[in-house]
Amino acid sequence: MRPIRPGDRGPAVTEIRTILTGLDLLASTAGPHLDEFDLDTERAVRAFQQSRGLSVDGRVGKETWGALDAARWRLGARTLYHAVPEPLTGEDVRSLQERLLEMGYDVGRADAIYGIRTSRAVAQFQREVGLTPDGACGPHTMNALRRIGRKVVGGRPQWLRESDAIRQSGPALVGKTVVIDPGHGGTDPGVVVPDGSLRWTEADLMHDLASRLEGRLAASGVRVQLTRGPAPDSCLPDTDRALLANSLGADVFISLHLDGHANPDAEGVATYHYGTNNGVTSATGERLAGLVQREIVARTGLRDCRTHAKAWDLLRLTRMPAVRVEVGYLTSPTDRAQLVDPRFRDRVVEAIVAAVQRMYFPIERDVPTGSIDVSELRAVVTAGTVID
Ligand SMILES: [Zn+2]
Repeated sequence: MRPIRPGDRGPAVTEIRTILTGLDLLASTAGPHLDEFDLDTERAVRAFQQSRGLSVDGRVGKETWGALDAARWRLGARTLYHAVPEPLTGEDVRSLQERLLEMGYDVGRADAIYGIRTSRAVAQFQREVGLTPDGACGPHTMNALRRIGRKVVGGRPQWLRESDAIRQSGPALVGKTVVIDPGHGGTDPGVVVPDGSLRWTEADLMHDLASRLEGRLAASGVRVQLTRGPAPDSCLPDTDRALLANSLGADVFISLHLDGHANPDAEGVATYHYGTNNGVTSATGERLAGLVQREIVARTGLRDCRTHAKAWDLLRLTRMPAVRVEVGYLTSPTDRAQLVDPRFRDRVVEAIVAAVQRMYFPIERDVPTGSIDVSELRAVVTAGTVID
């Protein structure tokens, strides 16, 4: 098909404009030229292409048309199901996948394709809220999602407000022990980057982050212990840090580090949990890592370098869910500009607090990754509480 381009007129242009207006990329101006591919339309098409990672040429060819067509679907507007061999795709599928991911269900990547994994996650959700687990997302499932969605959604401002309320009532977190481990210290500064007369070190920045996190968690009734002070004489080895957490009977262990690389372009956040190459993994550690990683990415915009399984001493010897977060590259000018800003570090703290909360609410700590506390969800659905 010949691309629809600036200057064109006709019903196809009207349709394109309608979709772009629905996406808030184009003002909904009523006028005589709704079917005209004008300058504003071209601008909107370019913005759309940019947002979808398409080549930006301001014309609507096959690829852009496909993306526009998928974008018109709003979650709840149609029933979603696993269609074979041509799976359903669209923004509604992506929204659903993101919602499920936030609730801890395993849909893989939010790729906007309703595949078998998405269908299985939907079926699991349905089972847990007492619906027929057919793996299709129709009106009943949408209702259940709407009722629960707000309560367990993460990485969004409304979750933060609600998490305040949960924290105040917070039965789940009160009395838990969290050990926070600022990496390095003493004779070992970790990654060091000179900055004029200043000198940024991983050890100092991570101790500051740990102290902020300590304050926020303690305020919600959590017992918090740091593995080191701001300026210890020597650097405690990782094995000792793990044993310390064990001896304190910690419920959660969070180690805070920064990354460094000779290439200044290396940037982003990554979270590690215990696991080996042959698929052995700490389910709770993996879950905590996923929550921490997703919350930080959502709240800070740091590049997502994902979660990884490692058999490091620190993760292997700790007997509780344990993660090591590499909160960005100190050697990246982009990451560093953010990391040295105390307000940015507060956002990281908020993300980690939200992740720890979600570890306990509403998901019980000893259920496998991706399973939701059944009683909690069912109670919310039956009560019909719409929290909007
Ligand atoms: Zn480090």
